[in-house]
Amino acid sequence: MHRVGVVIAAGGQGRRFGGRTVKQFVRLVGIPILERTIGLFSSLRMVDEIVIVSARDHIPRVRKLVMRMSSRKIVSIVPGGKERQDSVWNGLCSFMASPDIVLVHDAARPLVSRKIVNAVIDATIRNGAAVVGTRVSDTIKTEGQNGFFQSTLDRNTLWAVQTPQGFRFDLLLKAHKAAQRARFLGTDESSLVERLGVPVRIVEGEQSNIKITTKKDLQVAKMWLT
Ligand code: C5P
Repeated sequence: MHRVGVVIAAGGQGRRFGGRTVKQFVRLVGIPILERTIGLFSSLRMVDEIVIVSARDHIPRVRKLVMRMSSRKIVSIVPGGKERQDSVWNGLCSFMASPDIVLVHDAARPLVSRKIVNAVIDATIRNGAAVVGTRVSDTIKTEGQNGFFQSTLDRNTLWAVQTPQGFRFDLLLKAHKAAQRARFLGTDESSLVERLGVPVRIVEGEQSNIKITTKKDLQVAKMWLT
């Protein structure tokens, strides 16, 4: 048996969708985005503990939401940091007991499926590090100078990565500490682990696992749900 911990990163300030509502509290088909995300993970048999990282100002509201959900798996709500990486670090430091593996997931991706989360857990147990992603369908180019492209990347080897990202807990701690020492800031956890030369297993995900950033994303998410 592996103890599985989850860090839900909701530490960003959250873009306001007009009015006073912050992204993670916006209702998506009647249920706040953050509640959908937490609910999915707490419903999984394989998940033991959940830590939620929230922007400091929003902690009271997150606490209220969590109390309403009454999930015994949620062990702490901790303040986020300046960058996403700082927020995840705060989350990793907040487990009651060290889990064997940890999943990091963006609160802003409420549509992740149980099937994909379970697949990431399995692949992490087998490989030590596993990340969900989808193949890109656009041609991707790199930028050169003065408004010209430099080159075209081989699309057959390119993936757009999402969350959840799963790791052996000790490996992710080590990767974070090494990144802090080198002042390296990554946009995801797997980039920190790759720096240590550890291979990260690909788990093919689903297009529906979008990150809700804009109002338009919210409309797309509604479409996936209805
Ligand atoms: O900013 P971005 O869209 O990449 O954020 C992805 C996720 O990371 C969001 O769920 C956001 O709340 C979280 N985040 C965080 N701490 C930050 C910035 C973003 O936990 N400082």
